[in-house]
Amino acid sequence: MTTIADRISIAQRRINQAAQNCSRTPSDISLLAVSKTKPINDIVAAYDAGQRQFGENYVQEGEAKITALAGDYPDIEWHFIGPLQSNKTKIVAEHFDWMHTISRDKIAQRLNDQRPAHKKPLNVCIQVNISQEDSKSGVDAAEVASLALTISKLPNITLRGLMAIPTATDNTDLQQQEFAKLKTLYDQLKQQYPSIDTLSMGMSGDMDIAIANGSTMVRIGSAIFGER
Ligand SMILES: *Cc1c(COP(=O)(O)O)cnc(C)c1O
Repeated sequence: MTTIADRISIAQRRINQAAQNCSRTPSDISLLAVSKTKPINDIVAAYDAGQRQFGENYVQEGEAKITALAGDYPDIEWHFIGPLQSNKTKIVAEHFDWMHTISRDKIAQRLNDQRPAHKKPLNVCIQVNISQEDSKSGVDAAEVASLALTISKLPNITLRGLMAIPTATDNTDLQQQEFAKLKTLYDQLKQQYPSIDTLSMGMSGDMDIAIANGSTMVRIGSAIFGER
């Protein structure tokens, strides 16, 4: 049986290999361990294997884990990657370091207003809807510039880049097209905001294609912690 530590090193090797295959520097791609629904012990096992960046999808679950681990593991960087309703923004503003799924001005404004003064600005990504599925959240490509402008004026949140969840499909051509579309949007946004540095795309099943298309952060859950 493989351990969480084994699976982290396998994921890291996959990142290195995918980067080499397209002549990128492996250290330009970070591994976000998605620990949603998994117990605290699993997070500690990953931490002991050297993992420091963790992603959570559910506000209350994330808050409970962050609070439980804050004392002994203060150097964990917590990323919120789930859908967020406006009545729950305060928890994210108060506890997380990153928020990947901004898709409305109102959410950006609330996170800014609720970010505690003693904390560094919250790092944020705009979630873009690049998928063919109606149900997916995120802004349309045409709305990225306007939301980026709103975020850029808010002092307590910092625009870091773009995030997307592609269509759930085995069709690698479609995955490739969607990732390439997000990369194009990212390159355009970077001309206007040169300090952005994060293209959050790629999960357990498609991380290799995401890296080939410029991902700088892959969000890996089941390949590290097992099926949910
Ligand atoms: C659950 C989740 C992941 C991880 O997915 P796996 O297929 O388990 O690697 C990544 N990103 C988001 C937004 C998720 O909700």
